[in-house]
Amino acid sequence: QVRVRFCPSPTGIPHVGMVRTALFNWAEARHTGGTLVFRIEDTDAQRDSEESFNQIIEALNWLGIDWDEGINVGGPDAPYRQSERGEIYQKVAQQLLDAGYAYESFSTPEETAARNVAAGRPKEFGYDGYDRTLTEEQKQAFRDEGRKPAIRIKMPDEDIAFDDLIRGRIEFKAGSVPDYVIVRPNGDPLYTLTNPVDDALMNINVVLRGEDLLSSTPRQIVLYRYLMELGVAKEMPLFGHMPYVMGQGNKKLSKRDPESNLFLHRDHGFIKEGLLNYLALLGWSISPDNDIFSMEEMIKAFDVRDVKANPARFDIDKATAINAEHIRMLEPQDFLNRSVPYLHRDGVVSADSWDALTDREREVLTAAAPLVQPRVRLLGEVAGMVGSLLSDEEYLAPEKDAKKQLKATAGEVLDSAIATLEALPEEQWLTDTLHETLTKMLVEEGGYKPRLAFGPIRVAMSGRRVSPPLFESMEIIGKPVSIARLKNLRA
Ligand code: GLU
Repeated sequence: QVRVRFCPSPTGIPHVGMVRTALFNWAEARHTGGTLVFRIEDTDAQRDSEESFNQIIEALNWLGIDWDEGINVGGPDAPYRQSERGEIYQKVAQQLLDAGYAYESFSTPEETAARNVAAGRPKEFGYDGYDRTLTEEQKQAFRDEGRKPAIRIKMPDEDIAFDDLIRGRIEFKAGSVPDYVIVRPNGDPLYTLTNPVDDALMNINVVLRGEDLLSSTPRQIVLYRYLMELGVAKEMPLFGHMPYVMGQGNKKLSKRDPESNLFLHRDHGFIKEGLLNYLALLGWSISPDNDIFSMEEMIKAFDVRDVKANPARFDIDKATAINAEHIRMLEPQDFLNRSVPYLHRDGVVSADSWDALTDREREVLTAAAPLVQPRVRLLGEVAGMVGSLLSDEEYLAPEKDAKKQLKATAGEVLDSAIATLEALPEEQWLTDTLHETLTKMLVEEGGYKPRLAFGPIRVAMSGRRVSPPLFESMEIIGKPVSIARLKNLRA
């Protein structure tokens, strides 16, 4: 039974790397019929925030990534916030001390650095193990000075190797990892202790996480061995380290890059299906010739061993193109329901849910859906497409790039369109008739190229250079407003 976990620290807005970690762990759990545990590693009161905690949950809920044990749902190893598990860590730290796997360390960083310099070691050599051999008297003397000890783990003098599920054999040479702190002098337990202890207590057997954590793995393996000796851990988990995600300029995508802000992508109108599909491609693929898939398909096919070790590139254009494909696959009504909050935000409809819209808004949007849905890549683009259809304005000032469409012949074109269309009875104000009438008048008889004939009419109808198909739009806008827009652009 696979048991994986997602255990973010609540610092800042959910980012692309964090969500990819959640997604791959979820896919592994769902593929194998295993269990996903969701715990929160909030042991750093300085950096953790309740806001970030809530945002992480909001992000997972939005994306439909669910978990089996942990935050909000509970489980056998509750509580699942490390800030509420202090006693557990204290107890394990004491067991480690008692067994001699850990020791009290009184050295200050300055003292350690001075010893390294005196011994001719480079300053950045790190901690030298000095306090390992302190006698009881020496320790007491430090205590009498008012010093409080940190607790350090003893690293064994041997190479540490493991088989990474993604990267294969990985080795750390003996002596390359110094004895490290698991409890601060003030008694605060560190990630180095809390993470493996909880993995052990929660019986996690597959640790899937980012490459940035690879350097902590030898330490965790050593601590795990000790925990197994103490009966706290049952078995050593398997580890898999997912590749870095690179952003622009071939630099690692940082949490602070706007590109990595998950909610920004949602604001732009990524739908969850599109974003998840793209995030899945950051290190994994379903097949060499297919980039578009659903989460059901991913779950069916996912295997951590197929994750690639090479850095993945975050490419917003590709992500957007994938999102467009998923938007096209939505049922039209679903597309509309999901678009409404964006339309409301952008001020083109009166409410933020479909049911609360006016009848006229619903009618126009229903008619517009087949025109718009295949032409947007992000839900944030819908407003620009339907704004002119929903509006009663009799004049839509042309946007800057739309003005360029108005060539020297625009005046004549508009004049003859107005004359022809005014003569068209309202009951014939239909897509096909409009198309035929205007084509006959302007292209066949007038001799204008279609672009010159229809460009100005499009600008009159929408104020924009790009808009939903023209004749369908005119039918939706109706005769009176269409004629008024043509006249007002001409004036
Ligand atoms: N709390 C750690 C982080 O957010 C999790 C590391 C891990 O997956 O082991 O980086």
